[in-house]
Amino acid sequence: MNNIPTSLSREAADQGRFSRLRLISWWEQEKIADCRLLVIGAGALGNEILKNAALLGFRQVIVVDMDRIEESNLSRAVLFRSEDVGEFKANVAARAFRSLAPGARVHPIVANVLHGCGLGLFEWSDVIIAGLDNREARLWINRSAWKMNRPWIDGAIEGINGVVRAFLPGVVPCYECTLGAVDWELLQKRMSCNLLLLESVTEGKVPTTPTISSVIAGLQVQEAVKLIHGLPTLAGKGYIFEGMNHSSYVVEYTPNEDCMSHYTLPKISRLPSGSDDLTLEDLRLQAQADLSMADVTIEFSRDVLQKFLCPLCQEEEEVYRPQGSVRFEDAKCKKDGRMRSVITLHSYAGELDLGRRKLSQLGLPTLDVFVARSGEREVGYIPYGDAPAVLDHLFAGTGNGS
Ligand SMILES: [Zn+2]
Ligand SMILES: [Zn+2]
Repeated sequence: MNNIPTSLSREAADQGRFSRLRLISWWEQEKIADCRLLVIGAGALGNEILKNAALLGFRQVIVVDMDRIEESNLSRAVLFRSEDVGEFKANVAARAFRSLAPGARVHPIVANVLHGCGLGLFEWSDVIIAGLDNREARLWINRSAWKMNRPWIDGAIEGINGVVRAFLPGVVPCYECTLGAVDWELLQKRMSCNLLLLESVTEGKVPTTPTISSVIAGLQVQEAVKLIHGLPTLAGKGYIFEGMNHSSYVVEYTPNEDCMSHYTLPKISRLPSGSDDLTLEDLRLQAQADLSMADVTIEFSRDVLQKFLCPLCQEEEEVYRPQGSVRFEDAKCKKDGRMRSVITLHSYAGELDLGRRKLSQLGLPTLDVFVARSGEREVGYIPYGDAPAVLDHLFAGTGNGS
């Protein structure tokens, strides 16, 4: 826990620190301090995003990254030092943020956003800024941000070129609308036919420079600042920057009417219990009462690989891990080496055995969202008893729900 100075001395210090920013006619430092910022990715872009966020006065930040710092990161990461090599990027970035912004509450989460982050993190945030290098994570963030009714700002860099895009929930086109046939082909290449993770994929080897990451991340955070102030943003558009000729332009995308991302939960309810205290059947009973319906299905945030089934020896193995987090190699039977069938699970509708399982025993991340559906009626539930453990010292700053 940080030593939080008295509000008076903090205020006085902030008056001095942000005095030049306050000279901007529309600037409201309090709006930035009050904003709950979720930064996904602490690589080249993430470093610059966090640096800018710290200098601008963001004070409630969660940073998500699963990787450790390598020597090659040091040429593009202002927050990392040689002695940090081997440590988790999220942890070091959060520490550096605090040293740039005394009193800031920054919480690192070492996880893959696809499998390790509950959608409750999206619900916690006001704005999401992503510094990622792959379409799969962007697509997931886009769908999750729409579902949870949160804006997200994307950045991408390659060589000395880059793009910034802002996607607001309910505003089309969204990120998924921008994906073409080639993008879908590349997305599908990542997964084998039964959605197991293939090893050969190389990530994080994009050729980039610290100069382009600072240009693009700077614009991303600036978009966030404008968004917070209710000013015009790149909503649904892309700003392209080509470093070779210093040409830049804004592209407009075409909305896709069949886009899978266009869905926002009408209501999200925070439950006092944690995922360790509730079984699936407990949750279904609650939803039956809340929706006044008997026929209720609980849908998971992502598909779960429930079990492997060997076609040769007929043996079953329980897995309960998010689909896509299990390696192709692990699907082979340990007895006879045969490739096993994958049984997946994406919902619960009252099956006896499954109903006795606690929410924490499904392989889903903590602070996740469960959607109860009955016909046209639906409600999202967050087992908010998980929040203190996941949000750490940012939990106290958790205000009104949505
Ligand atoms: Zn779309
Ligand atoms: Zn077998």
